[in-house]
Amino acid sequence: MKFETLAIHTGAEVDEATGAVVAPIHLSTTFARDESLALMNEYQYIRDGNPTQTRTEEALAAIDSGRGALLFASGLAAGAAVLQSLRGPWHVVLPDDCYYGVRVMVREYGERWGITSELVDMSDPDNVGRAIRGEKTVVWSESPSNPLMKVVDIAAISDIAHRRGALSLVDGTFATPALQRPIELGADVVLHSATKYLGGHSDVQGGVLVFRERNALFDRVRETRHHLGAVASPFNAWLIGRGIRTLAARMRLHCDNAASVAGWLARHPNVERVFYPGLAAHPGHQIAARQMSCFGGMLSFNVKGGREAAMRVVSLCRLFTRATSLGGTESLIEHRATSEGESSQAPPQLIRVSVGLEHVDDLIADLEQALSDGKTVG
Ligand SMILES: *Cc1c(COP(=O)(O)O)cnc(C)c1O
Repeated sequence: MKFETLAIHTGAEVDEATGAVVAPIHLSTTFARDESLALMNEYQYIRDGNPTQTRTEEALAAIDSGRGALLFASGLAAGAAVLQSLRGPWHVVLPDDCYYGVRVMVREYGERWGITSELVDMSDPDNVGRAIRGEKTVVWSESPSNPLMKVVDIAAISDIAHRRGALSLVDGTFATPALQRPIELGADVVLHSATKYLGGHSDVQGGVLVFRERNALFDRVRETRHHLGAVASPFNAWLIGRGIRTLAARMRLHCDNAASVAGWLARHPNVERVFYPGLAAHPGHQIAARQMSCFGGMLSFNVKGGREAAMRVVSLCRLFTRATSLGGTESLIEHRATSEGESSQAPPQLIRVSVGLEHVDDLIADLEQALSDGKTVG
């Protein structure tokens, strides 16, 4: 079946006990045994798993072409579980434009767990090849990247990783499985922050790992989740499951709106540069066109006039909400270096935008007045 159908029907069977079309949220923390002390079902205790989580994990595995999925309390908790599952000296190769939370986690905590790391420019797959140190290497890519929208050739770097016995993990948060399915391109594990598009309404936190195979790594990561406890709550699992049902439809509009906004920004005299993989001038455009079905709802741009000018544009927005994060129905705008704080590597004049589902004319009108120093234009 096609993506839209899988997203609506997987893990969404009619509830046998009541006939409910929408699955109930199972809040129970514990599960009973019968007179012979056998478990009545596969469940024992909420930290191992619960029926609401199982339904959402089934949907997540199906829509990302994986054999298994694991849900976590956040995107970073999902990433941490991978690192904590590795035994003994491992090396993690990260992209130079990496989600800053992942960079901090791998560098500051990875070291305590015996993990070394390095940042490489993954737009050239040969750089990845040079960084691999044999079988105990994770090639951790992100495409498109946060915040500079760099594109990585997932098939090429997964191939290089596999030829050297390394593992290919792709953070696909910006693209979502609706637009890009790294496992089909050769990746072993896909990570998503479900806090973003999968939840889709800026009201739930979660993280996901999808695995190509239910292999030893899958088992170890599941064990890690059980022992270290970074599970999602049933309510969050349910909200993420609900978000998946509308993901394809939402992503279409996010893509359309973002493409219009990016094209408009690229022609604006006060804009220095737009980072959006859908623009033909974007260095990763060809690869993105090959590995994504459309280019997503995220973009960033450099404003002429440096840090002060960028902060002023953000402060003048009226319709865009000044907030970090992404993937909700409402459009968000941020001065990225301010959001990331002291460890930020973002250019000082960079503005990042999560293009929402409002009418695109209203979004462009708001950016137009903000880029014209608050003056109404036209
Ligand atoms: C937000 C984000 C994360 C972290 O997810 P949380 O749910 O905030 O922990 C990881 N990667 C990318 C690309 C993100 O945007």
